[in-house]
Amino acid sequence: MGNVTIGGDAPITVQSMTNTDTRNVAQTRAQINNLVKAGCEIIRVAVPDMEAAKALPQIKQGLGIPLVADIHFDYRLALASLEAGVEGLRINPGNIGGEDKVAAVVKEAKRKKVPIRIGVNAGSLEKDLAVGGAVTPEAMVQSALRHITMLEKMDFYDIKVSLKASDVPLMLEAYRLLAGRVDYPLHIGVTEAGTLFRGSIKSAVGIGILLWEGIGDTVRVSLTGDPVHEVSAAYEILKSLGLRQRGVEIISCPTCGRTQIDLITIAGEVEERLAALDEPLKVAVMGCVVNGPGEAKHADVGIAGGKGEGLIFRKGKVIRKVKEELLVEELIKEIDQIINGRNF
Ligand code: SF4
Repeated sequence: MGNVTIGGDAPITVQSMTNTDTRNVAQTRAQINNLVKAGCEIIRVAVPDMEAAKALPQIKQGLGIPLVADIHFDYRLALASLEAGVEGLRINPGNIGGEDKVAAVVKEAKRKKVPIRIGVNAGSLEKDLAVGGAVTPEAMVQSALRHITMLEKMDFYDIKVSLKASDVPLMLEAYRLLAGRVDYPLHIGVTEAGTLFRGSIKSAVGIGILLWEGIGDTVRVSLTGDPVHEVSAAYEILKSLGLRQRGVEIISCPTCGRTQIDLITIAGEVEERLAALDEPLKVAVMGCVVNGPGEAKHADVGIAGGKGEGLIFRKGKVIRKVKEELLVEELIKEIDQIINGRNF
């Protein structure tokens, strides 16, 4: 899609969706810029009407990552988005008004080499598939296969598929079933996952299990809030499975009865100070001098607290002792030295 490869052995990409009014170009661009800074690799915007479609060329201007138009109900919006130069389309072929309308969109997408994501959602499954209102994993897969067949019949294969549900076991089973039946790249996520805390956990469980099973090519964490958190959460999931590397990894202990410094505040401060740093660096923030350096042997650099003071260590080796109030500053100095005097 555009300059990004999805599927096969390509790295698993992180994507997000704006929650600004797409017609407001300045706000949408500002949000996209923040998302790109956070590491977002594909961005999707809702295109609910023609005015939104008309804003796309300006939103696209100078944008370094692929822009995906999210379309429902009106195939003309898909055509206008293609005309505007988007690199991807997300449609539900079942709800954009009959096969002739789908054919018109597919023809244009093919001409412009724009992939289409078939986005099946448990909440809006076709009535004939949700028997008695019950949505099963098989019904979701059937919906996807129906749409895939429709596009394949039109000789269109640049397809991605998603099978989202807010219920984790349901989405897990649906993705597993589909992964066994088709070879198309899968966009994975738990939809309507919730607010920052609950939504991140739910997403980590759903997305994490699939990724660990080798299922999924591109990830969207969906959270109620600033989408920048979606990108950070996605990277944490990928980093914890060793699938992507981005930014500093902070290892911090939970604190215990041995802790004699204000480690919770210190860990928060370290995380904040290093947030913008994109270096493959492991930093340990440990509460106790006895266990700290040993427990964080694999960290590149770290601190271990004592009583009103702490140790700075590198790869588990103690470098020097500093006062508690200087610990963060000294740790930053050490990191600064490691990454060749870069300022942050
Ligand atoms: S590193 Fe020390 S202070 Fe932290 S949890 Fe372990 S024993 Fe407790």
